[in-house]
Amino acid sequence: MSGMHAAVLRGPRDVRVEQRAQPSPGPGEAIVRVFASGLCGTDYRIWNGDRPVDYPRVMGHEFIGEVMAVGGDVSNVRPGQKVAVEPNYSCGHCPLCREGNRNLCLSRTAIGIDVDGGFAEQARLPARCCWPAPAAIDDDQLMLAEPLAVVVRAVGRGEARRGERAAVLGVGALGLLAIQLLKSRGLAVLAIGRTDRREGLARELGADEFTTTSSGHAPEAARSFSGREGVDLLVETAGTGAAVEQAVELVRPGGRLVLTGLPHEPSTVGFFGVVRRELTIIGSMIYQQEFPEAVRLLSAGVVKVDRLVTHRFPLERIQEAFAAHRSPESIKVTVVI
Ligand SMILES: [Zn+2]
Ligand SMILES: [Zn+2]
Repeated sequence: MSGMHAAVLRGPRDVRVEQRAQPSPGPGEAIVRVFASGLCGTDYRIWNGDRPVDYPRVMGHEFIGEVMAVGGDVSNVRPGQKVAVEPNYSCGHCPLCREGNRNLCLSRTAIGIDVDGGFAEQARLPARCCWPAPAAIDDDQLMLAEPLAVVVRAVGRGEARRGERAAVLGVGALGLLAIQLLKSRGLAVLAIGRTDRREGLARELGADEFTTTSSGHAPEAARSFSGREGVDLLVETAGTGAAVEQAVELVRPGGRLVLTGLPHEPSTVGFFGVVRRELTIIGSMIYQQEFPEAVRLLSAGVVKVDRLVTHRFPLERIQEAFAAHRSPESIKVTVVI
């Protein structure tokens, strides 16, 4: 094979499928033949021009595939292995990296954002970003490893404990994964959507109760669900300032709130209540050591994704994938390569 196809972003909303040279691996690198590459809000913002990148750029950071070739000094994977790609790698030598906070490294490189990613037939990346998966795992199932790793970290940061009453705010891909993970850890879960469109799905995936922020009854629902002043733990996945403002109203005094959505707009959180009720607000940024656990949960079928992948497009139709991401019915849109 002399070349490969890649979807190249040449400017805002200008993505073209082009022929590119076949990549070859340098020391410590792997070439992954991409099977599927998911699309999320970050991709949409880049495509739309809201988040600038250096053009031309091959986007795509939620991808899986098979290792085709490895360079020297690679021992964690070998050609032929099915892998999920962890699309972030850190510098490895700054104080943050040395103390284990590699997700917070200021020189962190995001594959599909800072360097070329997975909306292509092949991707070249550090082999340490590849996490081997069982050969038999379904492609869609494995493809949710990246968002699930985000959720595994959020739930871990929130110190979720069996028997607690939790709420998940937002019922997009992250929220629907969080519901399943919290249930598997033995918590009762109140799911909270903006509207009731996903009530049935949230319940099917394990939510014990459902309410909406638009109803204005969410605080009351959190009280009746918990049988006290509010839930013990809330996982915020909606990523809007308004959602964070509402989240602080739903947690009991002494409770914890984990924020994993990234609000891009300023908000006015009621800090009076945060102090008065001694709430613990915890930020949770992507993942640190959680990728293998996400692959394990998906391989074991603890977390199910078949209802989450709502749209599939071939690489040539990637433009339609961005439009589909914005449709109200879409949860996870993927590009199948
Ligand atoms: Zn993403
Ligand atoms: Zn670093």
